[in-house]
Amino acid sequence: MVLKTVIIGCRTTKIYCRPGCPPGRRTKPENKVYFSSRNEARVKGYRACKVCKPDELFKARETLFFTRYHSPLGTYILARSEKGVVCIKTEEQAPKFLARWEREGIELKGDDKKKLKLINQLDAYFEKKRRRFDLLLDMRGTPFQLQVWDFLLNIPWGETRTYGQTAKTLGRPKAARAVGRAVGTNPVSIVVPLPQDNRIRRQSDRLWRWTGQKDGPPGT
Ligand SMILES: [Zn+2]
Repeated sequence: MVLKTVIIGCRTTKIYCRPGCPPGRRTKPENKVYFSSRNEARVKGYRACKVCKPDELFKARETLFFTRYHSPLGTYILARSEKGVVCIKTEEQAPKFLARWEREGIELKGDDKKKLKLINQLDAYFEKKRRRFDLLLDMRGTPFQLQVWDFLLNIPWGETRTYGQTAKTLGRPKAARAVGRAVGTNPVSIVVPLPQDNRIRRQSDRLWRWTGQKDGPPGT
């Protein structure tokens, strides 16, 4: 594995440093944790070192608010803007989004808003009381990605669409592969169908279906 890491954390102090920080260098190797972004260190509960000040080189253009959400399928990182839900990703999937946002000047801060509508709806979803979400989304992507994600949001429960059908509906009949890539880069899991969420499932090479799995809602 190639490490492109710029941020080093210490497991015991929960502090993150720039490489080469004098106190940071004294961290025992077994306590070192590597992050691909400061955003990732933060969502994992680390704070910036006061000696090497890893946040000072960074001028955020936008701040998003994050929450960790513990579900029966594992822990998700939720991020929102003032406009809506930006991201729902598992801890494993989140780091690449967090690193990309950091390159784009987006910084994450812990959410102090209690009782997020999103969390209530996720709770209901995992308690099998809800299938669809009623939320404002603030998804970030190219115009084509946004079109595909919007299309996914509107597939009726239990129905199937192939990449080819999707591409055709969007007026780009030759773009089936691009549809596939857009499906795979959807930043808002659960709410927008994604193969990894067990809600759309790979039926054949290019066929996806909304389907209730054992962890999904009832009645499918
Ligand atoms: Zn430091």
